[in-house]
Amino acid sequence: MIYDPVPIAAIATAPGRGGIGVVRISGRNLAPIIRALFGNTVLKPRHASYLPFRHADNSIIDQGIVLYFNAPHSYTGEEVLELQGHGGPVVMQMLLARCLEAGKDGGLRLAQPGEFTQRAFLNDKLDLAQAEAVSDLIEASTEAAAKSASQSLSGAFSKVIHELVDKVVHLRMLVEATLDFPEEEIDFLEKSDARGQLTTIQAALQKVFDQAAQGALLRAGLNVVLAGQPNVGKSSLLNALAGDEVAIVTPIAGTTRDKVTETIHIEGIPLNIIDTAGIRHEHDDAEPGGIVNAIDTVERIGIERTWAEVDKADVILHLLDASRGPTRADEAIVARFPDGVPVIRVWNKIDLSGHHPGVDQMSDATHIYLSAQEHAGIELLRQELLRIAGWEQTGESLYLARERHLIALKHAHEHLQQAAEYAAQNDQSLDLFAEELRLTQDRLNSITGEFSSDDLLGVIFSRFCIGK
Ligand code: GDP
Ligand code: ZN
Repeated sequence: MIYDPVPIAAIATAPGRGGIGVVRISGRNLAPIIRALFGNTVLKPRHASYLPFRHADNSIIDQGIVLYFNAPHSYTGEEVLELQGHGGPVVMQMLLARCLEAGKDGGLRLAQPGEFTQRAFLNDKLDLAQAEAVSDLIEASTEAAAKSASQSLSGAFSKVIHELVDKVVHLRMLVEATLDFPEEEIDFLEKSDARGQLTTIQAALQKVFDQAAQGALLRAGLNVVLAGQPNVGKSSLLNALAGDEVAIVTPIAGTTRDKVTETIHIEGIPLNIIDTAGIRHEHDDAEPGGIVNAIDTVERIGIERTWAEVDKADVILHLLDASRGPTRADEAIVARFPDGVPVIRVWNKIDLSGHHPGVDQMSDATHIYLSAQEHAGIELLRQELLRIAGWEQTGESLYLARERHLIALKHAHEHLQQAAEYAAQNDQSLDLFAEELRLTQDRLNSITGEFSSDDLLGVIFSRFCIGK
């Protein structure tokens, strides 16, 4: 990854109005910019100075706090200047524009998304997993997710990865040393207890994978599709499921009328609930069976988009009225379900039908009997959702891992498996064994970014927001 050392600037605080807004500048030599902005005022590193921020013509933009960090004792590892002014969008824009002007000769430019963190990575202030955790912490939607993101940010995840790498390296060294003395190869595996070491590494890797997989769940959550006829109780069920959790029903930012998605949390796991029939609430009087016919083109497009969401579902909740049984429209709904996605058939309103709350594992789906209104059987559904999500409360600390990390761990696991197979063969092929260990190490290193390709780094940092 090319390290273009020109200084960069950005508004680091969120857009909108706030008490304080921060413009952040990072670069290898900020002295000319500091002089242009503050004349001969000397900024002591890591000390707050209260100063006027002035236009080039000396008129005042704002007054605020200036913080100067000398290299490498800053977030980016470069020199960093933070100007804290009043957090209004116009003030911040003027301040940023003034900084860019003051730094023009030194090449100061607007930072790209994630560029501050990228520099922190390139200057070894953070490894890749930690850099990703910065963005995950900012994006965290629950306390549990924030907790495991900061766990990763502190380096706990990187540490266990390094410990795994160390074990692999140790074994590799043994093997590589033996490769130079072919006559000793034969009983090498016995002497060094290579198989025992391999088993230990495999077990350690499995544990890390489990913790990472659970953490990944906190990050990504589960996509749940809520399907069912109008008035079967979808909204009521949503509220019942959300229960006492703080965020009862929070609309996802950017939700439009044609994408009915709400997120609730169960034991800290985000469930992104897509209400397929939510679009049709104004048409609750539509004929059963006329699910698509009765609606206008605009809504049809909306519904098609919603069905596109359905294809990304991890689980489908098909809600039915236990007191009425399935209708023709239900058949139409079921016909649209994508193959291979688990379905929970939820029979609601058992208070009217006389069923007892319960779970029935049937061949077509899991059937659950409950009453959203009476809050009967809701816990059964919550547990079933957690089961499908693969959630186990282990009490272990979790790492807010990304898909990328899980894939790398899985590949590392496969290479260890392959190594174990070579070790089990009679004509022990030590060179192949060594090669699998090397590949294992590569995969693990890719998590912390030790040997990552520029492409990968580009993708990761471009997903940050500007100013981070
Ligand atoms: P939606 O259109 O599928 O979202 O259904 P709503 O959640 O808006 O509920 C439709 C109606 O059914 C409302 O009058 C609810 O009070 C009622 N309802 C929901 N769940 C139950 C239940 O478990 N038992 C009974 N008796 N009524 C329910
Ligand atoms: Zn509803």
